[in-house]
Amino acid sequence: MKVLVTGGAGYIGGVVAARLLEEGHEVTVLDDLSTGHRDAVPEGCAFIEGDIRHHAAEALAGGADAVLHFAAKSIVPESMAHPELYWGGNTGASLALLEAVRAAGVPRFVFSSTAAVYGEPEQVPITEDAPVRPTNPYGASKAAIDAALAEHARMHGLGAVSLRYFNVAGAHGSLGERHTTETHLIPIVLQVARGERDHVAVHGTDYPTPDGSCVRDYIHVTDLADAHLLALGACVPGRHRVYNLGNGAGFSVREVVEVCREVTGHPVPAVTGPRRPGDPAVLVAAADRAHTELGWRPRRSALRDIVADAWAFHSAPATGSAPGGAR
Ligand code: UDP
Repeated sequence: MKVLVTGGAGYIGGVVAARLLEEGHEVTVLDDLSTGHRDAVPEGCAFIEGDIRHHAAEALAGGADAVLHFAAKSIVPESMAHPELYWGGNTGASLALLEAVRAAGVPRFVFSSTAAVYGEPEQVPITEDAPVRPTNPYGASKAAIDAALAEHARMHGLGAVSLRYFNVAGAHGSLGERHTTETHLIPIVLQVARGERDHVAVHGTDYPTPDGSCVRDYIHVTDLADAHLLALGACVPGRHRVYNLGNGAGFSVREVVEVCREVTGHPVPAVTGPRRPGDPAVLVAAADRAHTELGWRPRRSALRDIVADAWAFHSAPATGSAPGGAR
């Protein structure tokens, strides 16, 4: 297929672009490089530098069989401080992209949604039928697009899939997570192990969880990428389908730190700090629907393997401008 990948210079978009190429698809990446890296775009992809609001029509001018839409802001604390960036950059820009998709007659759309749409769940593990009640603007900005996709499917015949990611981590070979300002737990802990930080702060120890710290469901980026390839094949005209992507196992912040200590052999000092605004206590996926309908089978679901792959990426020697996301 001819596929447009927005945000393909980012962590997850870059891995999915690489997997699409491996499967023989023709890939164009559209990315404004606001948080992504030009060298994370896999060799073999066409690349357009620009934002989705203004450059989607140009990127779709040659026709496309599908759009995979990753370009977004994805940091919960930033969304609490600057909700307008999320309503504009995520919701507004995605609506503009959907208009361009409709105008160009693109039949398939796969969207990076998030577990953050569920907010504080009533039942864990969370199924796709759980109420959508985000506790932060990040989740709200994504939930709005899930809703818009349902209508674009119903009214305009789009074949759409929303993939609700739980906590993505790990690396796909030389493609890994590297943000200028890191906020995610596993990369931060690995920075401590590398000696780039003194300690990790555990944000909140008074949650209603076994050890008081937040519980999340960690999923390997390669497994997540595989689900996108399956979703692409599952886009049916006129239908919008939602799938949770997680492993169904919850790990507390303290447990994650402990696994990172074991994998890296570094003591990783941890200090306790206040809660981070907007954080739900527990997010763990029921991904049965992705298993039965998409035939998705995660292959690296053990947290130890996920951390080990992230550690291999983070401890690889810096190679400057090497392709594929090497640092
Ligand atoms: N967290 C933490 N210390 C950090 C970074 C994150 O305690 O330095 C916690 C955070 O509050 C949340 C969990 O780790 O409970 C996962 O956060 P992350 O930002 O990795 O992903 P999110 O769940 O927000 O998408």
